[in-house]
Amino acid sequence: LFVSFEGGDGAGKSTQARLLGEWLTRIGHEVVLTREPGGTELGRLLRDAVLHGDHVDARTEALLYATDRAHHVASLVRPALERGAVVVTDRYLDSSVAYQGSGRDLGADEVERLSLWATEGLLPDVTVLLDVDPVLGKARLTSEPDRLERAGDEFHRRTRAAFLSRAEADPVRWLVLDGTRPADELAGAVRARVAALLG
Ligand code: C5P
Repeated sequence: LFVSFEGGDGAGKSTQARLLGEWLTRIGHEVVLTREPGGTELGRLLRDAVLHGDHVDARTEALLYATDRAHHVASLVRPALERGAVVVTDRYLDSSVAYQGSGRDLGADEVERLSLWATEGLLPDVTVLLDVDPVLGKARLTSEPDRLERAGDEFHRRTRAAFLSRAEADPVRWLVLDGTRPADELAGAVRARVAALLG
């Protein structure tokens, strides 16, 4: 089973990914908890390049994320799924479609095609969108904002709208939750959806 968490910065994705991973481990599953960008050693170099590099234009940015994703899927995600593990990732291709496709205006369809090429078409079984107002999300960030987190409010409003419209178009894959709800309530809603899929 492949689960991704999506949403803006400060939405609580890493907390919810961790809580889901802990619960899955408790009930006896092998869990691979990972993230994008930076889920692998090469990915950490790419993460540093994309978040802190100088003059990273939109296409370069999209290709760096796609490279990270291709390597992440080929070296970590697919092998784990093949041996029966549950993979839980903090961000996946929907982040690229929302941030580079809509936020940076490269076009959602094109960026989705690039991502599907990079991953040989691998989509999550369930994608949890933790939806929060970007202004509120920013206020919840604990670390210093990186290059992308400093992007303007308009950019973050476009990415939020893109996440919501993708989720609306595919309710079978997506679970949309209000990220301002208490963490334990959100974790319960995520567990219910994942439990239904695990059977
Ligand atoms: O969620 P995380 O902190 O790992 O994301 C790192 C940064 O990269 C954030 O500022 C996020 O908004 C940005 N990002 C992006 N496009 C992606 C994935 C993440 O702009 N495809």
